[in-house]
Amino acid sequence: MKYNKVDNEILERLRIICGTENVITDKEKLIDYSHDEYPRQEIKSYPEVVVKPRNEQEVAEVLKLANENLIPVTPRGAATGLAGGCVPVYGGIVLSLENMNRIIEIDKQNFVVVTESGVPLMKFFKEIEQQGLFFPPHPGDESAMIGGVIATNAGGSRAVKYGVIRNFVRGIEVVLPNGNIIQCGGKLIKNSAGYSLLNLFIGSEGTLGVITKATIAVVPPLASVVTLVVPFENIDSAINAVPEILRSNVLPMAIEFVELEPIILTEKLLNKSWPTKQGSAHLMIIIDAQDKDTALSFAEKVAEVCEKYNAMEVFIADTTDKQQTILEIRSHLYESIKNFTVEILDIAVPIAKIAEFVNNIHEIEKKYGIWLPTYGHAGDGNVHIHYMKGKFVNGEIIQLKESEWQPKLEEVIDKIIDLGLQLGGSITGEHGVGLVKKKYMGKMYSAEYLSLLKSIKNVFDPKNILNPGKII
Ligand SMILES: Cc1cc2nc3c(=O)[nH]c(=O)nc-3n(C[C@H](O)[C@H](O)[C@H](O)COP(=O)(O)OP(=O)(O)OC[C@H]3O[C@@H](n4cnc5c(N)ncnc54)[C@H](O)[C@@H]3O)c2cc1C
Repeated sequence: MKYNKVDNEILERLRIICGTENVITDKEKLIDYSHDEYPRQEIKSYPEVVVKPRNEQEVAEVLKLANENLIPVTPRGAATGLAGGCVPVYGGIVLSLENMNRIIEIDKQNFVVVTESGVPLMKFFKEIEQQGLFFPPHPGDESAMIGGVIATNAGGSRAVKYGVIRNFVRGIEVVLPNGNIIQCGGKLIKNSAGYSLLNLFIGSEGTLGVITKATIAVVPPLASVVTLVVPFENIDSAINAVPEILRSNVLPMAIEFVELEPIILTEKLLNKSWPTKQGSAHLMIIIDAQDKDTALSFAEKVAEVCEKYNAMEVFIADTTDKQQTILEIRSHLYESIKNFTVEILDIAVPIAKIAEFVNNIHEIEKKYGIWLPTYGHAGDGNVHIHYMKGKFVNGEIIQLKESEWQPKLEEVIDKIIDLGLQLGGSITGEHGVGLVKKKYMGKMYSAEYLSLLKSIKNVFDPKNILNPGKII
């Protein structure tokens, strides 16, 4: 695709639309807008200009201008994405939603919050908590913005009981690539009127439209929460316990599995302590209930199941402080190994296949001599696997030579992707396809399926100006 460059005339028009202070061309400042949190350095590309519109009308005018002049536009939230989704591969305009950060209405009658799409999750969580409300999904990085989490259909650990972001989006306002604005859904729970464009935009990774507002469902606060950390001798026993926990008439909101090495590194990073160092694999289970006694009785039931699967001990955190520390360590696992991570995968498999999947990954790890730390959402089958350019030795990571990890990279990743697909899985459970998983779409979907995806893109964006180079 041949796009036009952003020339002085376009820049001037962008300044008129968004205000001079909201149009960035300074090379130093553009560095921040050239990447997301995906670890590989080569997934970096500079925009020609960054614009920060202040409302949907400005977004619409920017898109109209870009569409008329064939200039690519890449929407951007907080750039916490792990698939290169907001990287402007063809240059052009990065459209940052950071100025659209107002919560518009907290509607307690309808249990919804209407918000602009540039609101970071941490602000959203805080403001609704002050109003006695709660938002169940919890994608790990709270700086992610509402528009970004909708555009990626983010998940997080609490999906076991409450589902992913999609389950909580009641309505959105979207600016189409031609600059027209449409509304999808609203404050209502049920809506069967025609094809659901709302659901099409959720998870569309900024390729079909720019989400400018959202109506998000919220719930009353959780009454009582208990967190369990359960060490096992090995990953097999830990993962095998999960289906039985799910059958035990207790539905935890999160069941995470973690291996010990990343925990040790994260403890060091945060200077905080995980409850135990026993065994080699741990389950972290979060249970909520209507009161403390019920939560504790649920915890006991879950503990019994774990003991049946040879749990070495069961640690129960029943105070907010202890729970917060455990969650914080879990949320920072990525940060503790990021500098040595070459590739991060988030394959989802059916929950009954997790043990087989993880065991096979460890076989691949042994065969190729590459450290593949693996952790994730055991309760919903979403497994995060890191390809490392370092080895874990005595509590720290020792860098490998490039010749030791580089030649095996593509083969190992291909093997893991194939394994996930053979087990009935998806190439991405929550991070999205973005730029980096595009090459695996052909492994996952038939030519017919891909052709329908392309046709849909063409209907919304016939000139292919919106986030080109992503998904398909
Ligand atoms: C430490 C860490 C932990 C994480 N944990 C989780 C987790 O538990 N679960 C999970 O799902 N993800 C997780 N992520 C990934 C990431 O936080 C999510 O993908 C998040 O949804 C991205 O939001 P963002 O605002 O940063 O979007 P960005 O990274 O800025 O963009 C992501 C995609 O959305 C598009 N986009 C952004 N805003 C809009 C908009 N307003 N309209 C249209 N398109 C838009 C972009 O073009 C891009 O394609 C984690 C990341 C990190 C670094």
